[in-house]
Amino acid sequence: MSIPVSQFDALIIGAGGGGMRAALQLARADAKVAVVSKVFPTRSHTVAAQGGINAALANVLPDNWHWHMFDTVKGSDYLGDQDAIEYMCKIAPQVVYELEHTGVPFSRLDNGKIYQRRFGGQSQNYGGEQAARTCAAADRTGHVIVHTLYQQNLRAQTHFFDEYFAIDLLKAEDGSIQGALVLCIETGEPMIIQAKTTLLATGGCGQMYRNNTNALINTGDGMAMAMRAGVPVEDMEFFQFHPTGIAGKGILITEGARGEGGYLTNADGERFMERYAPNAKDLASRDVVSRAIHTEVKEGRGCGPNKDFVYLHLDHLGEEVLQKRLPGIRATSIAFLGIDPVDAPIPIYPTAHYVMGGVPTDRFGQVVVPVGTGPEEAVPGLYAAGECACASVHGGNRLGGNSLLDILVFGRAAANNMIEALKENPSHKTLSQESIDAAVTNLTRWDDISEGSETVEGLRNELQRTMETYCGVYRDKTMLDEGVEKVRELLKRLPNARLKDHSKIFNTARIEALELENLMQLSLATIVSAQAREESRGAHSRVDFPTRDDDKWMKHSLFFMEGERLDYKPVRSKPLTVENFPPKERTY
Ligand code: FAD
Repeated sequence: MSIPVSQFDALIIGAGGGGMRAALQLARADAKVAVVSKVFPTRSHTVAAQGGINAALANVLPDNWHWHMFDTVKGSDYLGDQDAIEYMCKIAPQVVYELEHTGVPFSRLDNGKIYQRRFGGQSQNYGGEQAARTCAAADRTGHVIVHTLYQQNLRAQTHFFDEYFAIDLLKAEDGSIQGALVLCIETGEPMIIQAKTTLLATGGCGQMYRNNTNALINTGDGMAMAMRAGVPVEDMEFFQFHPTGIAGKGILITEGARGEGGYLTNADGERFMERYAPNAKDLASRDVVSRAIHTEVKEGRGCGPNKDFVYLHLDHLGEEVLQKRLPGIRATSIAFLGIDPVDAPIPIYPTAHYVMGGVPTDRFGQVVVPVGTGPEEAVPGLYAAGECACASVHGGNRLGGNSLLDILVFGRAAANNMIEALKENPSHKTLSQESIDAAVTNLTRWDDISEGSETVEGLRNELQRTMETYCGVYRDKTMLDEGVEKVRELLKRLPNARLKDHSKIFNTARIEALELENLMQLSLATIVSAQAREESRGAHSRVDFPTRDDDKWMKHSLFFMEGERLDYKPVRSKPLTVENFPPKERTY
C-alpha cells in the first residue's frame, strides 16, 4: 500500500483546549504545525466545560498560589507530584491573563475584573475559609476557550486536519516518535503525518462507563496509542465520579451550581453533607461528595419512588442569579428533565467524569518512562498534555476547575519544550518501515467488518456495564477479580466484532471498532491497576482496604500493555521552591 506523507515540525493529535493551546504557542514561534482532530475542532470536548478555570487572582476573596497549591496537594490525597503542582498553581494567573488577552470573554465583576466563583476543595489560608478561585464565563467557560483558541490558531496559520482519525504513532529507525498514521474519515484514505515532534492531546476516556458526562468521542485513543508504542499509562485506577450528574442521564450539572450556593438534600430533606464534611459541606472535594451521595442512597435515604438519587437545590437562588450565572444549567434541566431549577430541585447521582491517570509526563509535557530501577527517561519526540496525560497534578482526585488549568498550563509548557527540541533536531528522520507496517495492519484488520458473531455496539455496551458494576465508586477484591476476568474475556471476543447493520457499512464503522479496542485496552489498565492497589485514596475506594496506606502505597502505578505488567514509581513530593506538604489526614 502506498501512503501519502505530509511533513510538519509538530503534530498535535487533538484539538481540545490542550492541543490548541500547544498549537498556538508553536505556530506563533513559526513552527509548521499540524493539528489532527477526529471531530471539527470546536466540537472537541473542552467545549462542554462549564464551571471555569482555577487561578489565584484574588478578585473576589483573598487568595494566593500557595493556598491553591495546598488545596491541590490535599485534593490529590497526597499522590500528586508537588513539583508539577507548584509549577501549575504558580503560573495559573499568567495563563488566565494570556487567555483573557487572547480574547476569551470572561464574565466580569462590577469593577471590571474577571468573575471568580467558589468551587469544591478550595480554601483560604491552608484549609481555612472557602476561597473563590474559579474564573468563569457564565457556565460556558470551555466553550469560549475552545472558540477563541481555534480562531487564534487560524490566524497563526496552524494547519488543521479536521475529521482525521489518528490510528497509531510512528517511529523513526532510532526509536524516536516521528508522527502518526491517520485516516481521513470522509474518504477512508490513510495518510502519514511525519513530524519531528508529536503531542498527544486526545482527552479522556469517560466512555469506559455507561453513565458518564463525556462526549461519545472520549475513547482514550491517545493513551491506547501510547500503550501500543510501549509507553505505560499511569494511575489509571483513579477515575473521578462527579457528584452531580443528572440522575439516570449522566449529563453534568457543574460544581459551579453548588459554588453559587446550591446544596444537596436526601429523602428526609436533610442537608446531609453537613455530616460528612462539617466545614466545607456541599463544597467538599468531589470524591468525598460522591461517596456521601452513594452512602445516602445505599442506606435508604435516597429520593424518588426507587430511592435512587438525591436532590440539588438551586430554587432559593432566584431567577436573576440562575439566568446570569448558570443559564446553561437552567436550560439543560428544562430540556432534559422538564424541571426549571428556579422552581424545583434537580435529581442527581454520581456519574463517571474524569480520568486522573494517563500518559506519564514530566512538568514540561515530555513523556517519560522508568527504565529498570534507574531514573525515568524521555521518550524522544513524544509529548502529552491535557486529560490524556498524567503530569501528575491531580493524583488520586482532581479538584474542579483544575483540569482546564492543567490542559492550558501543560499544553503551553509542552509546546515550549517542543520549540527547544526543534532547535536541536531540525531535520526529519527516516521512518521505520516496521512501525508503518504495524500501524497499517492495525487499520486494515477492520477493513471488512461485515462478518462476525459479535457487534461493536453490543461489546461496547457490555464493556461499559462491566466497568460500572465492577470498577465504580466503591470496589473490593471479589468485584475487581471478577471484573478483570470479564474485561479480558471481552478483549478476546473483540476480533469477532462486526457492525450491527449489514446493509450499510460506513467508513465510520472502522473507527467505532478502533475506538472500542482503545477503550477495552484502557479499561483493562484501569481495572488491573485498581485490583492491585490495596488501599483507599482519593477516588479509589476499596471497602476491603478502607484507609490510606502511605507506607505501602505512596507511589504511582504504571500499567504496561505488554504482558499486562504493573510497575510503580515514587511520588515526586519535593516542590520546586517551597516547603513540601507532607501527607495528613484529609478532612473537609
Ligand atoms: P478534549 O477537549 O477532550 O479534546 C480531545 C481532542 O482529541 C479532540 O479534538 C478530539 O477530536 C481529539 N481526538 C481524540 N482521539 C483522536 C484520534 N484518535 N484521532 C484524532 N483526534 C482525536 N474542567 C475544568 O477545569 N472546569 C470545568 O468547568 C469543567 N467542566 C467540565 C464539564 C464536562 C461536562 C466535562 C465532561 C468535563 C469538564 N471539565 C472541566 C474537564 C475538562 O473539560 C476536560 O478534562 C478538558 O477539557 C479536556 O481537554 P483536552 O484538551 O485534554 O481534550
